[in-house]
Amino acid sequence: MRNRPATAPPFLIFGSPLIEQTEIDEVVACMESAWLGTGPRVVQFERDFAAYQGLQLAQVAAVNSCTAALHVSMVAADLEPGREVITTPMTFCASVNAIIHAGLVPVLADVDPATQNIDPAAIEAAITPRTGAILPVHFAGRACEMDAIMSIARKHDLMVIEDCAHAIETTCHGRKAGTFGDFGCFSFYATKNVVTGEGGMITGRDEAHIARARVLALHGMSKDAWHRFGDQGYKHYQVIEAGFKYNMMDLQAAIGIHQLARVERNWLRRETVWNRYMEAFADLPIGLPAPPEKNTRHAYHLFTIMVDEVRCGISRDAFLDAMNARRIGTGVHYLAVPEHPYYQHRYGWKPEQWPNAMRLGRQTVSLPLSPKLTDADVQRVIDAVSSIMCHASKITA
Ligand SMILES: *Cc1c(COP(=O)(O)O)cnc(C)c1O
Repeated sequence: MRNRPATAPPFLIFGSPLIEQTEIDEVVACMESAWLGTGPRVVQFERDFAAYQGLQLAQVAAVNSCTAALHVSMVAADLEPGREVITTPMTFCASVNAIIHAGLVPVLADVDPATQNIDPAAIEAAITPRTGAILPVHFAGRACEMDAIMSIARKHDLMVIEDCAHAIETTCHGRKAGTFGDFGCFSFYATKNVVTGEGGMITGRDEAHIARARVLALHGMSKDAWHRFGDQGYKHYQVIEAGFKYNMMDLQAAIGIHQLARVERNWLRRETVWNRYMEAFADLPIGLPAPPEKNTRHAYHLFTIMVDEVRCGISRDAFLDAMNARRIGTGVHYLAVPEHPYYQHRYGWKPEQWPNAMRLGRQTVSLPLSPKLTDADVQRVIDAVSSIMCHASKITA
């Protein structure tokens, strides 16, 4: 083993968020106010998020994760236990686990190999008399084919819950992702486009759905139970169903308010990085993301390349190790859901049943795309990818 030179560059952490002084000051102010839990800053964040998405305040509810948002949405959707929910195998396990925890049955429909999004034709093919909902995921920030998905939903009378964890800025034919279906579920996890550390948001067309989700997310207690500790005098609350403990804290919202204010600036920076990568990698044997579809807006959450061992002369996992050796963090989004033993045991799933997702999941690598990347960081990533590919092609030649 060679020693690392003393000037080794710092490790480039994948998905490191850009935190600025305004949110640091707001967190301090929140601490000093001593109102840490759900309170006025959460309301402010909800108001700002609703405005950003073109919704009313009564159409959004802040929660403590996207996983919670997905779970509560599916409970609030009032589907009979055992109904099937069709989703994509190219997603984070939380999409599927939320279906299971809501007492429903996950059914996978394969993705389009180019867009990596759920294929509407595969959704149609997966529909049974037990289907209750569709849960599309706007993968990497690219809009799903919502027109086709909504027409399938109308035809079969299905609920639609959009997993918008990657898609805060996404639009499709002039409409924001998360406003097509019955519910939209957003994530403010530390690596996402807007961060609160942990955090999420439920959006909904129907205010009654959101009112129910709000109650479910706070123990099932009647409306705005957090007010009970305010200066208006103690108010009794009533528990009206068996809810969950999924509320967002003011400490989280303090970060989110300022993160959201910079959402467009950060999007522009990621777009620049994205275009730099597209240009720099054009002649390499790696697969690149499909160009954004016309009349849609990509959120540029993940820049995923495909490393096909036959074409590249290096396996995906060896590529990950080579990036790590160059002190660059990468991600894998995702190994297809049916690669995981739990789902194989419980549902008898085999990855081969969803061949597009299986192949993509075994080749995909996410490169750093944080707005925190400097031009020099971006160049380091480009140089690393290029040199690994050059080295691999020499070995195979
Ligand atoms: C991050 C993510 C989630 C979960 O979000 P949390 O806020 O961490 O619960 C769900 N679905 C997808 C597609 C994600 O990327």
